[in-house]
Amino acid sequence: MICLAIVWGLPSFRKRRFAITSFANTDGILITKNLINIIVENKQHLSDIDGLIGDGDHGINMSKGFEKTAERLNGDCDSLSSSFKILSTVLMDEIGGAMGPLYGSFFRAMFRASKKCDKINEKVFSEMLNAALDKVRELGQAEVGDKTLIDALAPAVEAFDKAIAEERGFSAALDAMKSAAEKGRNSTKELVAKKGRASRLGERSKGVMDAGATSCCLILSSMADSMQKLIGS
Ligand code: ADP
Ligand code: MG
Repeated sequence: MICLAIVWGLPSFRKRRFAITSFANTDGILITKNLINIIVENKQHLSDIDGLIGDGDHGINMSKGFEKTAERLNGDCDSLSSSFKILSTVLMDEIGGAMGPLYGSFFRAMFRASKKCDKINEKVFSEMLNAALDKVRELGQAEVGDKTLIDALAPAVEAFDKAIAEERGFSAALDAMKSAAEKGRNSTKELVAKKGRASRLGERSKGVMDAGATSCCLILSSMADSMQKLIGS
């Protein structure tokens, strides 16, 4: 009895035995609200990056879509999944450029993969990530090394899944996802663009980070931070 009490008293034991590894889909709306704030805060930064090898509209397009979504997150929207449905509809139907359809498909895939789940755990989030990656790949036909958002997204999904397979837990997997997204985003600096507007510049597209990889890294990092708050780690 005394022994048990001692073991129970150890914080590491309590945390491991009873770590919360899921959050309610209905609480997940916080994730979308934080995403909106991050994108709006980075509007100028994203457009400045896009302006170096593109047409300078990435931040403008992104924040327009996310701000419109904020206006529509009213009483009907009561979960992470339904907020992603609204976000994807706005991006697909109302926002131009490459990012409208690409991120529209990304969030539509995340909505579909989670809509029947009351709880979002590491398995559900892995399914959401993989579905989003598949859709962006299918639509844009870009691969790692083409200097697009795939350079941040694909390694981030891989790192998340690897951490889960190694049973490191939801929060550690989110950390791994964040690090891989940052590394992938940074890797785009030395790449030559093979897809999108910047590809017209050929070798001259080198030396600058990709705007889409930068926004994707912001999105994944913000999602991870919000999820870690929701699971209390
Ligand atoms: P546009 O190039 O039409 O102005 P944005 O500025 O909104 O569109 O978005 C540019 C970003 O879109 C690029 O930085 C790149 O990451 C991403 N992108 C462009 N084409 C593709 C593609 N075929 N597949 C994946 N991502 C792409
Ligand atoms: Mg652009």
